[in-house]
Amino acid sequence: MKVKMWGVRGSLPAAPARSQAFSKVKKALESFVKQQKNNPQLSVDEFLNLPESQQPCYGGHTSCVEVFTDKTQLIVDGGSGIRPLAEHLMAGPCGMGKGEAHIFMTHFHWDHLIGLPFFIPIFIPGNRVHFYAVQEDLEQNIRRMFTKPNFPVPFEALGAQIFFHSMEPRKPQMIGDIQVTPYQLDHPDPCWGYRFEHQGRAYSHCVDSEALRVSRDDLGLDLPLYQNCNVMVFDAQYTFEEAIEKTNWGHSSAPIGLDLAMREKIPKVYFMHHDPSASDEHIAYLQRRTEDYYQARLKALRDSGSDVFEVDWEFAWDGLVFDV
Ligand SMILES: [Zn+2]
Ligand SMILES: [Zn+2]
Repeated sequence: MKVKMWGVRGSLPAAPARSQAFSKVKKALESFVKQQKNNPQLSVDEFLNLPESQQPCYGGHTSCVEVFTDKTQLIVDGGSGIRPLAEHLMAGPCGMGKGEAHIFMTHFHWDHLIGLPFFIPIFIPGNRVHFYAVQEDLEQNIRRMFTKPNFPVPFEALGAQIFFHSMEPRKPQMIGDIQVTPYQLDHPDPCWGYRFEHQGRAYSHCVDSEALRVSRDDLGLDLPLYQNCNVMVFDAQYTFEEAIEKTNWGHSSAPIGLDLAMREKIPKVYFMHHDPSASDEHIAYLQRRTEDYYQARLKALRDSGSDVFEVDWEFAWDGLVFDV
């Protein structure tokens, strides 16, 4: 099973401003000139492979993640990241009106819906688009995206056949060769994370969540979302301090996800739902602060003689693909 992150930004799409793009180009050119003084033979391709030239770029599309195997393709949420995913799907059977799309909705905040009117396969007769959610108002919330005066094409005029599937909390469902189970997250409006399983491997999608429940007792019936999973994607919109300041805003921070992963022995964690106001430099700074926290935590555990489980973690970016 593989996962592709098509949108990792939270709350609102965030395209880089012209000044940010210029600043990146300027830094890269200055760095190239400096490197070339020491190595006059240095080519542009060689320079781009040097670690210092690989400036982070996290992307600006809101939540959309693709989970897929050779046989099955599932989509989580319809944020603005679903538009480039739609273009990718159009190169396959969807472009010929013979495709099938399965979209699992976590909840209905704008950043998870805003791309749906630009999901091209939904306009093409012959395609079949399935929506899934635990929330009872799934159909009403999707229909509302295709209403005037907010969008010119009414729901009734969409070309694809559209199906709505209601999921039962914590009850597994097979779609192709992937098993999907919804578990409740902590968010101001009801929000459900998903656990995807295929051939004994599990991916847990835990966004959007404030992670107010962390202990095993508090998580209760939702604890299996975090147990025995191979990869977790976790909501890290805020710094730890901001997460405390913004109680009830519905988002968490990387240290909380790391603690959870170390306790439940989750070997790989990706953080997403980056704040729309955070520049690439700021997200890179959060990553460095998270590393400081992680190293301090490892040391404290080792010093106290406790079991230590090391977690490989990273802040996710638009276009990232990983194996589960
Ligand atoms: Zn969100
Ligand atoms: Zn939300």
